[in-house]
Amino acid sequence: MKPFKFSFSYSRWSLWRKCPKAFKLQNVDKLPIETGPALIKGRKIHDEIADYLQHKTDEAPTSLTKKFATLGQQLRDVPSSNIMIEDQMAFDKDRRAVGWFGANAYYRMIWDVGVSVSNKVIQAVDWKTGKPYDSYDDQKQIFALPAFWLNPDLEEFTGNWVYLDHGDVHSTTFNRAQMYGPTCDPAADDGLHGLWKANAAMMESDVSYRATPSKDACKWCEFGPNKQNLCEDGVK
Ligand code: SF4
Repeated sequence: MKPFKFSFSYSRWSLWRKCPKAFKLQNVDKLPIETGPALIKGRKIHDEIADYLQHKTDEAPTSLTKKFATLGQQLRDVPSSNIMIEDQMAFDKDRRAVGWFGANAYYRMIWDVGVSVSNKVIQAVDWKTGKPYDSYDDQKQIFALPAFWLNPDLEEFTGNWVYLDHGDVHSTTFNRAQMYGPTCDPAADDGLHGLWKANAAMMESDVSYRATPSKDACKWCEFGPNKQNLCEDGVK
């Protein structure tokens, strides 16, 4: 088994925030996790939409045609040079772009869709299934990071959370001052750019992986009493 090497992503952050022990069991100890029907369905929907947007098929998937046929067509019409679909973006600790599997990959992010509107404006889309149940504030901020890191002249990034079943779109826009702080200087390590550097460092420095059991966290936890039941700290 390959030894654990820290890297930061939204899904890792989200799991670590919920319970550092769950993060350890999954990522450090690499215990197998079961791929439930919701995960399989979500992956299938993402793949179908990606194939449609990349013109691998002309048949729009029902997940899009239910509520977002027009958006699907608009995204299909974006020139391929201006659209990223499920692209993997990795950065080293200094937030320079590196290969996804590179030994120095420290941040890893994926947008379901990214559209370069101009060299100053980027929009991204995250497909959601089910009902809106969270504000995803952390995810929205983390989504904005690669847009600014990859595009030094970027002025504005908008993340769109598209709820395929429900029909809602939740959008959040970030500008340079929010990303880099009032001086708009990346070297100042201010704004969201500095905040997420600090958050990643905080997460990396945690090697105690303390269990933080709660009814809500343990209820859905892969290692909790309702699933594999491998954690003695889990509560019902
Ligand atoms: S069962 Fe609860 S305490 Fe144990 S790892 Fe999962 S969330 Fe943490």
